[in-house]
Amino acid sequence: MQITEIYKSLQGESTYAGLPCVFVRLTGCNLRCTWCDSEYTFHGGRKMSLPEVLDEVSRLSPGGGLVEITGGEPMLQEREVVPLMQTLVETGHTVLLETSGERLLQRVPAAVIKIVDVKCPDSGEGDTFRDENLEALTTRDEVKFVLSSRRDYEFAREFANRHGLAGKVNAILFSPAFRKNASGARDSSQCLLDPQELAEWMIADNVPARLGLQLHKFIWDPAVKGV
Ligand code: SF4
Repeated sequence: MQITEIYKSLQGESTYAGLPCVFVRLTGCNLRCTWCDSEYTFHGGRKMSLPEVLDEVSRLSPGGGLVEITGGEPMLQEREVVPLMQTLVETGHTVLLETSGERLLQRVPAAVIKIVDVKCPDSGEGDTFRDENLEALTTRDEVKFVLSSRRDYEFAREFANRHGLAGKVNAILFSPAFRKNASGARDSSQCLLDPQELAEWMIADNVPARLGLQLHKFIWDPAVKGV
């Protein structure tokens, strides 16, 4: 499979946020979100076999632990990534899969926790989530909306409501988008949507979602990759 990087850091954007985690970042994405901070994954990378990826994961995290499969869009390499996830589960890892839900998720092993990043209108990639994937969601999974405007917030609130997500998944996450190419200050001035404003909307509407902040962007310089 084509891999951009494998590294260890803290998980930053789910109910697993704050836990040490090995990230396996696959190369390639079929979307072009306006605020994407991972454009370096679109091309390049290096070919690695399944055993090579497994060796690197166990070198970084001997004895199991949390592993996130991310990208880019990892499900573009479904043929290789499904066996990788299955093997990681069998070798005692807790496996998270970060995906946009634009590809079908039916073949993702049941033990894998899917974190589905449903694209909102102002990402420029709205309407890319495939509704068939709602059937693949379980109470272990999480659905995330990265928000850059009031329009995005209303889309996310209505989507969660219309599809009864609160009863379907472990968590609904509303997360303010970070400015593309943000660097320097590690604070919410770098967010496209003020977290305080978002928090106030969520409280007023009593939405069954939790506010998520991209933890790593408050720990390291937002421009730093591989953290
Ligand atoms: S899906 Fe992810 S990697 Fe692809 S363009 Fe959007 S934010 Fe970037």
